[in-house]
Amino acid sequence: MDATVRPLDLFDLDIRNPSLAELPGDDGPNQVRQTPGACFSRVLPRAAASPTLIAVSAEMLDALELDPAVARTREFLETFAGNRLLDGMDPHAACYGGHQFGQWAGQLGDGRAINLGEVVTRGGARWMLQLKGAGKTPYSRMADGLAVLRSSMREFLCSEAMHHLGIPTTRALSLVATGEGVVRDMFYDGHPRTEPGAVVCRAAPSFLRFGNYEIHAARGETDILKTLVDYTIATEFPHLGDPRGSDDPAAIHAAWFEEVCRRTADLVVDWMRVGFVHGVLNTDNMSILGLTIDYGPYGWLEDYDPRWTPNTTDASGRRYCFGNQPRIALWNLNQLANAIYPLIGNPEPLQASLEGFASRFNERWQAMMASKLGLSAFEDGDGELIEETLRLLGMVETDMTLFFRLLADLDDDADPRALLAPAWYLEDQLTDEYFVHLDDWVKRYRARLSRDGRDHDARRAAMNRVNPKYVLRNYLAQVAIDAAEKGDYAEVETLLDVMRRPYDEQPGREDYAARRPEWARHRAGCSMLSCSS
Ligand code: AMP
Ligand code: MG
Repeated sequence: MDATVRPLDLFDLDIRNPSLAELPGDDGPNQVRQTPGACFSRVLPRAAASPTLIAVSAEMLDALELDPAVARTREFLETFAGNRLLDGMDPHAACYGGHQFGQWAGQLGDGRAINLGEVVTRGGARWMLQLKGAGKTPYSRMADGLAVLRSSMREFLCSEAMHHLGIPTTRALSLVATGEGVVRDMFYDGHPRTEPGAVVCRAAPSFLRFGNYEIHAARGETDILKTLVDYTIATEFPHLGDPRGSDDPAAIHAAWFEEVCRRTADLVVDWMRVGFVHGVLNTDNMSILGLTIDYGPYGWLEDYDPRWTPNTTDASGRRYCFGNQPRIALWNLNQLANAIYPLIGNPEPLQASLEGFASRFNERWQAMMASKLGLSAFEDGDGELIEETLRLLGMVETDMTLFFRLLADLDDDADPRALLAPAWYLEDQLTDEYFVHLDDWVKRYRARLSRDGRDHDARRAAMNRVNPKYVLRNYLAQVAIDAAEKGDYAEVETLLDVMRRPYDEQPGREDYAARRPEWARHRAGCSMLSCSS
């Protein structure tokens, strides 16, 4: 918040709902049903029986220009538990469709997410506030509209961790325990248990997904599709011009798609940089703004394995594994292109943007990998060095985050075996043969560094700005969840704080940067996650 701006009380928030005035909606009953002709359905959140505030993001309070003391009020808790509405809130769930695991799945929609309204700050920012886990909507299909504490905590923590890493993401304002139980069969294997329920308040300029456009295309609602695309461009991409007053709206639509491709490419490069695996990259989980959205069975690479997927549902096909993310993002963009084709009527610009995705991704990925290695720029021949680096990482179980962080300290005198030891998981893999490969690689890497000519301190500082020391390792989140399920929320606070400065050394907090302990290797929540949340 701008220091000259007076912090606000909760009741001072300026909350609007321009989308509800401009897009066709639905005021039907809150029953599971198809909603043709509608972009959203009005629906009230369900009240939580006995809510408690578990955590709040100080940075999100600040972004909303709220006084931090607001978070300690009863009104804040009640609002973000779903028990009361503020002036200007007009709660609604969005209608969207999606391709799930490569198949068109028809209408999906916000089955347990409810938009409350858009906060417009004095600084001109727009934040849609959305409750996740506050009950059923017309889009709940067979499910209950609720969320459990473990998944809500994972979403709350990871949204903020991602933001502090500098990666585009939806945000999280608050995490509230509802005081009610929610039944889940975590691994769909006939072992349901009652878990504590929770509600997260998410925030983003918009939660629109590829699936919001696909559903109207699938229904042949070209007019609605156009209204939605025009609205999206006018509000979220105003620099492209307003197609509604243009002589050539199709050109603006095409430029918009090109920008969506570009943002998506940049987002995936960021994920690859920090070892993030989304886990369910269905088209309904792809943000039109290029944000990371819908934190479900996501995970962070520990040992470098491009085929690793955190999602047990994906274990056989590995469609959503780490290394497939660029390809899947492009596949999803193809579905979006198909959906908006009727507005443009010419495949060429769409095709060019899809090809642009591949070239932009490759270019950015190469530059990113060069920066991870501490090179001042990617040069011809570096492709081979990068490939060899990744091959080396895969040869023995090597923690990706630790490897790159430690590499920053590889000056001319360092002994690489001693330096990199904390990154290796299994001692018995460290054979003489492996060390021959390592020594060869180090020789080659050092030669490249000396050609680059940057002094050691400058290189280390640059590497430490792109190679985080602290990421939300799967087991760290699980330890915090285990404690929270017993009513101890201290670890949530600590994790939130550690993840605030992921690129900094944080003396005394080295444990949070250490490789995954062996007990977590096969534990549910640490190495295996399901969509059940
Ligand atoms: P996801 O895989 O979490 O992105 O969810 C896919 C679809 O299922 C979305 O339309 C969600 O809104 C819906 N969904 C997931 N969990 C629930 C739930 N507990 N209750 C209602 N709808 C849900
Ligand atoms: Mg989703």
